[in-house]
This record gives sequence, C-alpha cells and structure tokens, in this order.
Amino acid sequence: MSSHPDLRPETLAVSLGRPARTPGAPLNVSPVLASTYVGAHDTSGPDLGYGRDGNVTWTALEDVVGALEGGRCLTFASGMAAASAVLELLGPGDTVVLPSSCYLGVAALVRSRAEKYGWTVRTVDVADTDAVLAAADGADLVWLESPTNPLMEVADLPAIGAALRGRVRTVVDNTFATALLQRPLEQGFDLVVESGTKFVGGHSDLLLGAVTVRPDADALYADLAAVRHDSGAVPGPMEAWLALRGVRTMPLRVRAAVANAGTLAARLADHPGVARVRYPGLPDDPGHERAAATMDGFGSLLSIDLADARTAERFIDGCVLWTHATSLGSVESTFERRRRWSGELDVVPEGLVRLSVGVEHVDDLWHDLEQSLDQL
Ligand SMILES: *Cc1c(COP(=O)(O)O)cnc(C)c1O
Repeated sequence: MSSHPDLRPETLAVSLGRPARTPGAPLNVSPVLASTYVGAHDTSGPDLGYGRDGNVTWTALEDVVGALEGGRCLTFASGMAAASAVLELLGPGDTVVLPSSCYLGVAALVRSRAEKYGWTVRTVDVADTDAVLAAADGADLVWLESPTNPLMEVADLPAIGAALRGRVRTVVDNTFATALLQRPLEQGFDLVVESGTKFVGGHSDLLLGAVTVRPDADALYADLAAVRHDSGAVPGPMEAWLALRGVRTMPLRVRAAVANAGTLAARLADHPGVARVRYPGLPDDPGHERAAATMDGFGSLLSIDLADARTAERFIDGCVLWTHATSLGSVESTFERRRRWSGELDVVPEGLVRLSVGVEHVDDLWHDLEQSLDQL
C-alpha cells in the first residue's frame, strides 16, 4: 500500500493492517483459522473459496510490510518459500547472479535448481560494483544481499539498482537491514525478499517470508501470487498474526538493537582478545563510508574474529546472558561460530563469531561478553 506516502515507518507499522473502525468491534485483526470459506455460485468475484486463496490475517500483515518496503507484499510460509517463489519465475537454461557470500539456504537452493534446469550461476563479490554490473550483463536474475552474512560486506545498492533498472530482473534479500535501514525498491530493484522469521516476527517463535514488488508491478505480483497459491507455500494464519503483532514494534526494536550493536562494536574493537570486528558502523570498516551514505543505520549484526575455533567455542561457553543459537533479528541477543556449519564458506575464518544484538541493556550485554573474553 503506497497510499500513505507521508507517514513514517513507526506510524505505518502501528496503524496499517487494521479492520475498519466499527464501534464495539475489535481493534485488531484476528487470526482467521480457515481452510474453507462458505461458497458462492458466482466465482468470478474476489470471494475466497479455499485457504490457499487468501486470508485476511495475511493481508493485514502484507499491508504493513508492503508499506514499509514501499510496494506490494505477498507473505509466504518462510523466507526460503519466498526465495523459492522468486526462483520459480526463471526458466530452463537461465543465468543467475548470486553473491559469493550468500545466505547458505538460498545458495544451496539455487545450486540444486541450476543442476536440474541447466542454469548458469555467476557468483560475485557484492561489494565490487563493477563486478556485479559485469556479471549482470545478459543474466536473467541478479540476486543480491547486503550487508552480507556473516562477513558484513556492503554493496552499493543505489548505484547497482540505478544501473540495472529495466535491464535485468533484480532482487535484494533485505533480511539483515530491514526496510527500516534500506529500501531497495526505491533504489531501482524489482523485488525485495525477506525472512520475516527474523526482524519482522522479532521473537524467535515463528517462520515467515515475504516478497515485495514495486507498487505498479501488477504482472509480477500476479505471477508470484499464482506461484504461492499453486505451490501451497502459504503462511499459517497463526504465524501471520504473530508476525503482525511483532511488526508493530519492529521500528522500536530495530532502533534499540542498532544502537546496542554500535556500542558493542566499539567496545569489542578496543578489547585485546578480539582480532577484528566486522561492522559497517565502525569508522575503519571497509564498508563504513558506503553504508553511511546508503543506509539509515548500520544494523544489529556484527562479527568478531577470535584466534581460532577452540577460542571461539570457549568464548561462547563463557557467556551466560547471550544464547548460543543460529537465526537473528530477535529481541534476545544470540551468537554462533559460523564455521560450525559444514556448508559455511571457507573464506569465513574458523574463529569468526556472528552476533545478533538484541534489545537488552547494552551494559549487561557488554559485561557478559567482556568477562568471557577476559578469561580466554
Ligand atoms: C533466515 C534467512 C533466510 C531464510 O529464511 P527462513 O525464514 O529461515 O526460511 C533467507 N535469507 C537470509 C538473509 C536469512 O537470514
């Protein structure tokens, strides 16, 4: 919904996706638990017949996420279901550009489909704008992620979006930054994919995905809606409802987490036990100038390089407040050594720990990290 161009994200997140104001009626949309709707004889209208056709709880969430991203949103069963729907738009023999350090699930999905359907996959360093533009030449889909996971490299999205607009279909996985920190559709990209499991939900209690297209992209929207319907990759009504409840506070949560991450990054950079802090908010980070120019904040994810795998494991075990867990973007602070996953890239150091900073008090978070670092 782009009918509220004058409202700010905090207001959009709270005020959209609500039923008409009827005295005595609930203020909130309820989770509509329906596989089946009462039938009409004339099925040419917008009436829903079956649970895969639509659900008002999804629609409410889509109104909010779409407004935040600046386009029209479709929600899916998970971030991977959303990514899969976008890839479904490709045909046999197509060419896909993929970040060399890409979300592992998406990279694996692209590779397995590439094998099956004869796609050519070109991997690029997203921070190298010339390389991205060169790889995009003659491609059918350019898939980007920024900042990247877990190395926190930053792409020049405005430059890439402007150069590729109208030339090749482009998509940004906006899970890490969220619509609060960057809006790729406004920068010329065709699609935004996100894992609503992360910041939208924000409480580590649901799986959900979203794809948003530009407000005038009716054909693309219809194609994706058909994929969702036909593949059955629909969100559960309870998940959509929980995510709607979560997204109300997303601007507040993201702002608090970004502030905490900035403070922790600076303190970690000063600690002798930490070899390197990867966070675009730090003035000497390779992505700093670009992120400062193109983002509305530096995000709440950062990575630290410790001496080796064993040191990273001891550091994690020495913390009590931080939870050792994958995933990210929730109210609680979590961290993990990325190379514990066999699929993680070799360029990621064995001792790298990725931190997803939550909204707890920053001094409590710091003291927990510091006491464990001091014991290494
Ligand atoms: C988690 C994640 C996904 C996949 O989303 P799911 O909801 O787990 O299916 C995709 N991209 C990024 C960047 C993610 O962090």
